[in-house]
Amino acid sequence: MAPSHALRCCKRVINWVPAVFINLVVGWSYYAYVVELCVYTITSNAERICYLIIFHIALFLFIWAYWKTIWSKPASPSKAFVLPRAEKELYEQEERAQVQQEILKKVAKNLPIYTRTAGGAVRYCDICQVIKPDRCHHCSTCEMCVLKMDHHCPWVNNCVGFSNYKYFVLFLAYASLYCLVICATVVQYFIKFWTEPNTHAKFHILFLFFVAALFFISVVSLLSYHLWLVGKNRTTIEAFRAPVFANGPDKNGFSLGFSRNVAEVFGDQAKHWFFPVFSALGDGHSFVTRLVHIDPEQANSDTFPSPAASSRSRVNPCSVGGGRSQKHPQATYDALYKQRRRRSRPPLSFHAPGRASNQLFLLRRAVHPSSLPCHIDRGCTAGVQTAPV
Ligand SMILES: [Zn+2]
Ligand SMILES: [Zn+2]
Repeated sequence: MAPSHALRCCKRVINWVPAVFINLVVGWSYYAYVVELCVYTITSNAERICYLIIFHIALFLFIWAYWKTIWSKPASPSKAFVLPRAEKELYEQEERAQVQQEILKKVAKNLPIYTRTAGGAVRYCDICQVIKPDRCHHCSTCEMCVLKMDHHCPWVNNCVGFSNYKYFVLFLAYASLYCLVICATVVQYFIKFWTEPNTHAKFHILFLFFVAALFFISVVSLLSYHLWLVGKNRTTIEAFRAPVFANGPDKNGFSLGFSRNVAEVFGDQAKHWFFPVFSALGDGHSFVTRLVHIDPEQANSDTFPSPAASSRSRVNPCSVGGGRSQKHPQATYDALYKQRRRRSRPPLSFHAPGRASNQLFLLRRAVHPSSLPCHIDRGCTAGVQTAPV
């Protein structure tokens, strides 16, 4: 076995340690609650049954969301984002970075891409050899580019991104619920343990309360942060480093208003919101932005400004549309958004060669400067600053 292969295998095994630890803690908490508390400590049958039912419902939802987060394969860019053979050969033969950028820009013209590097270059992954779609990042742990990457979570040993972000948020919510159920039902026996030394409450119950309370505080904090991110339609990476658009970095560039931001992650049907089933909108390759007035060709042009330049002169969306945008009704954007909802598809289609992204690209093309109401754009000083809810 080659040393590098052995090292990689070791790394993979070590990566599972936090997830195994969580599973062991959950397994122990099950024993402590069901056996030590419900069987040995609680004397009332009604109380015991009631506690066991509530506990098992919370545990089921928690484990379901947790395992879905762990076992959901991160979604990677479709073949449409891979350089065509001819361009790839040219790119690899070329040593001048500027010419390489020209090659990438030429290919990116046909893709629904609106974000760039901080220096204004097309985002390209040399490891995966793909042009990165908006919000896509390379994960060094998973060794792949992940669509709408949020972060790599060691506790689930998986990347949290487009394919499983909803599961991750539900996992945090149901983990909080699980800890809350334990704390709320164990607390009276926890107090008895201190006041009545001869009580049946045991060491397990004392420890169970401490562990559940500790996890509850930390998980609720993380859940609150992610709910805030969902409301803003922002990933953890974007919260720390704003995506760069044609008119510079904009941390709210993907925000469409609270209810639409929530629908982007949880879907638009309430019956799917509380269960770890895939219901996110879109295909992970293309995202509706508040800056949809920018034509991809314009965004890919040589005039893509550097952040420094853009901070000096912001693009005025009203002027980009040449005034024509104001002739179009508010309904245009809503109709296009609904169109995107209808095109929402499960992650199974991620690797369909470019079909989904091409459809969305057509949608983007339809949202040319001239077809948008200017007030959905951030730079328009005449109207509302955010997309309509
Ligand atoms: Zn990559
Ligand atoms: Zn990862």
